[in-house]
Amino acid sequence: MPLEIPFDNSYARLPERFFVRQSPVPVKAPELLLLNRGLAAELGLDADALQTPDAVQILAGNAVAAGSDPLALAYAGHQFGGFSPVLGDGRALLLGEVVDRQGKRRDIQLKGSGRTAFSRPGSDGRAPLGPVLREFIVSEAMEALGIPTTRSLAAVATGERVIRGQAEPGGVLTRIAASHIRIGTFQYFAARGDTEALQILTDHVIARHFPEASGTLDLLDAVIARQAQLVAQWMGVGFIHGVMNTDNTSISGETIDFGPCAFIDTFVPNTVYSSIDHHGRYSYQNQPDILAWNLAQFATALLPLMGADREAAIASAQATMELYPDRVRGAWCDVFRRKLGLTRDEEGDERLIGDLLSRMAAGQADFTNTFRALATGNARDHFVQPESFDQWEENWRSRLRREPEPGAEAVAERLRAANPAIIPRNHRVEQALSAASDGDLAPTTRLIGALSRPFEDPPADLEDLTHPPTDDERVYRTFCGT
Ligand code: AMP
Ligand code: MG
Repeated sequence: MPLEIPFDNSYARLPERFFVRQSPVPVKAPELLLLNRGLAAELGLDADALQTPDAVQILAGNAVAAGSDPLALAYAGHQFGGFSPVLGDGRALLLGEVVDRQGKRRDIQLKGSGRTAFSRPGSDGRAPLGPVLREFIVSEAMEALGIPTTRSLAAVATGERVIRGQAEPGGVLTRIAASHIRIGTFQYFAARGDTEALQILTDHVIARHFPEASGTLDLLDAVIARQAQLVAQWMGVGFIHGVMNTDNTSISGETIDFGPCAFIDTFVPNTVYSSIDHHGRYSYQNQPDILAWNLAQFATALLPLMGADREAAIASAQATMELYPDRVRGAWCDVFRRKLGLTRDEEGDERLIGDLLSRMAAGQADFTNTFRALATGNARDHFVQPESFDQWEENWRSRLRREPEPGAEAVAERLRAANPAIIPRNHRVEQALSAASDGDLAPTTRLIGALSRPFEDPPADLEDLTHPPTDDERVYRTFCGT
């Protein structure tokens, strides 16, 4: 059966100044490397049809599917704190939208499909295969961890080389998102004083993502709530996004743009992996504060829609923003309370959580394995000085006794459901990508398979994926590959 994609492109119906229409740039020799059959089914697409040569041409950007209306989105954004009034998809094209099996509208986008009107001067609009596979692995791992994220439908090798310092094989990713609308999309129109476009975008976003929101201020509040929830979930798995620019902060509350992102191994709160983050702006522990900064930029962009009285608009935006610290602290506490097997909110919980984290930092404990080992009772082995855990454990055990279901089995079950055994450890991802660049996809597919069941104890033959890196294996720097 030939591939049919039932496109319904709502973004393309917005005014022309929201995007630039153009076709993807063809590649030499497309080869389908990865196809996400489960996601295809969710989207109502026939996975077998997606593997046919004609479909692979579409996934590579060599052909445009019937009903697709490819366009590069316009947006702006603060990058490392500096504002760029015009960014836009320089190497990605929105092919269109489909309404999935659950009635949710989803974007289908190609990433690495050639230069667009928004390309960085002199750059190619392409993606090296390594970062394409990396995004596939990590985004699907996030999904399995229960964290809102863009998804990866397919990865295609282009048969062409891209130059990133050295020549590397090229790739194209098919990315699925609730939408690709970012804080930077609002900033783009705000910077131009285009209040009419801001209103149209706001109406579109409310209809699409927040139908219950009653107006602009309510939208701001809803985005704050979703993003606070998201960053708290990142913190709970030791995820460092790496480039939390406002153009990488999605309005729908999904994790987006897997560039130099990475997971913490040994718990060091100010960890930075990204090779371009020289001052640690986007370190693990800074993420909730950086998000506050990004949300303030969103609030600022929305001000023209909050009434003619600018002072009053600022006051109400500020009042809404002031709810953020409590929101994010609450979300963070909820995430970590679950990680400790606690189901009820108690006064001293925040201190209990903070106390464990400081001991983990001092004790050079592996973030993932320490939490996972709470269920088996050998978390202490992960600390340089196990006694420092014992002191904390006493407090935790007495807190657990006040739970409605304090039985050892019930607690262990809650702990296993909240603390993954397997995360995409950097050194494993790097090993997989380096094998892939030599033509061996087996480590990549093995990793993807293992990461799809993160809360189960892995079978013996996947157990190595839970090990922290040795000193020789440790990866200190990650690169975004743009
Ligand atoms: P990123 O940080 O990857 O989201 O990219 C920031 C800006 O650079 C966006 O405007 C991108 O569209 C653009 N960009 C990134 N990579 C490329 C590339 N290889 N060619 C052209 N433009 C790019
Ligand atoms: Mg980006």
